[in-house]
Amino acid sequence: MTAVKLSIIGAGSAAFSLRLVGDICKTKGLSGSLVSLMDIDKDRLNAVYMLAKKYAEELGADIKFETTINVEESIKDSHFVVNTALVGGHSYFEKVRQISEKYGYYRGIDSQEFNMVSDYYTISNYNQLKFMWDVAKTIEKFSPKAWLLQAANPVFEITNLITRNIPINMVGICHGHHGVDQIIEALGLEKDKVEWQVAGVNHGIWLTKFLYQGKDAYPLIEEWFEKELINFKPTNPFDDQLAPVAKDMYEFYGKMPIGDTVRNGSWKYHYDLETKKKWFGEPWGGVDSEIGWNWYQDRQAEIALTMQKVAKYFQDNPKAKLLSKETHQQIISFAKNEVKEEFADEIYKILDPERKSGEQHILLANALLNNEKVDLVLNLPNKGTIPGIADDVAVEIPVYADKNGIHHYKLDPQVPERIKKMYLIPRIMRMEWALEAFLTGDRRVLEEFLIRDPRTKSYDQVVKVVDEILALPENEEMRKHYNKK
Ligand code: NAD
Repeated sequence: MTAVKLSIIGAGSAAFSLRLVGDICKTKGLSGSLVSLMDIDKDRLNAVYMLAKKYAEELGADIKFETTINVEESIKDSHFVVNTALVGGHSYFEKVRQISEKYGYYRGIDSQEFNMVSDYYTISNYNQLKFMWDVAKTIEKFSPKAWLLQAANPVFEITNLITRNIPINMVGICHGHHGVDQIIEALGLEKDKVEWQVAGVNHGIWLTKFLYQGKDAYPLIEEWFEKELINFKPTNPFDDQLAPVAKDMYEFYGKMPIGDTVRNGSWKYHYDLETKKKWFGEPWGGVDSEIGWNWYQDRQAEIALTMQKVAKYFQDNPKAKLLSKETHQQIISFAKNEVKEEFADEIYKILDPERKSGEQHILLANALLNNEKVDLVLNLPNKGTIPGIADDVAVEIPVYADKNGIHHYKLDPQVPERIKKMYLIPRIMRMEWALEAFLTGDRRVLEEFLIRDPRTKSYDQVVKVVDEILALPENEEMRKHYNKK
């Protein structure tokens, strides 16, 4: 057994941290490990710590936990650092969105062509990018052999920023490819008879291979669209994998967009709420509309609060068991109506000793440490995998990992030319602009983003919105950075 230290930065994101902790406890090869939970929010941190410790005890897993509010302390001597922190939290995004909308930028200046995901800011997110940069630098200094597993967004921009500029082991990780499972389920296929491949960039991946029992299964998707789309009614705002927007993107690009890619189409699907409703379904118009995002925010807040109540329950009742029926009932009673059944189920899925979470972080750590080969979909420099895209652009592609590292699979078939020319290259260009702005501190690059935005009617509009965002108290460092030139 290899005793290792894993650091989770931003560990207060309870649902995510528990998934990781659950996977660690269920992975024999990680027995004896120390997990360092780091966050600046002590209440959230303590709730996760309490639940993680309890869970490991009940499972009989030999895992130790520590908490810290100090990044360096957490990273020091770590073998793996999972970064899931969100600097400024969701409330910062809301402030920026409100300012932007005042100046005519529906859903905010950071909602851009091929990047409409509401917590994936690239223009006004200086503090987040700077934090990720500092974490990578801290790894370089204190644990130069450690792997940085980047979970926090914007994964695409951050992975490029770090892999190009800081010499550490780093990979971007997202679970968007699970969208393929939704298609498999909707079509009623047996999962182990499906062979699939996705490729592209983070939140811009495409189903380039889809075989069932060795035969092309795309006709089954087309048949589903023909027969079932008419009855499409999303069950929640995230239910978009087979929404009208996905069909329309498929018809234009020639392959199915997968996971968050469906949220990341062109303006055609995002001009306003009515447009979003048309393409993503009623009543929400997808998760990135004002209605859908409120739904998500309310749930996230509710889940965080419920986690804290559950942790407090164990503090007051130390003999209570996490995996008992009584606790299940408690969780249901702590949560509000909209969240409770589903949330309690979700918690018990995470805690189920027989099931892993589906997140890739711990599978990757185990493969690298213990040579247990595993197939994954990860973000790392292209190095020729998708021809026509520069070697140093981080792409999201199928790979396998073992003790010798992460190895790219050869794509077969390749990504179609139209996807490259009409989707990937324009998206990559915007990543380059975001990095150019961040690395140079040249405010004109931020402005240029907006000058090229179809919502902009005058340069005055650009100056005003950038000024007001820079004037936010939490943007002091950003303001100085962009006032250099
Ligand atoms: P959240 O705000 O609920 O949690 C983030 C945590 O970061 C909080 O506990 C907060 O206290 C902490 N934090 C903030 N500043 C910090 C700092 N300076 N140091 C340490 N911790 C700090 O956010 P969330 O909704 O859980 O999302 C977290 C991130 O993960 C976001 O960027 C989101 O977009 C991303 N995300 C990624 C995936 C993926 O598959 N890669 C999936 C979902 C969400």
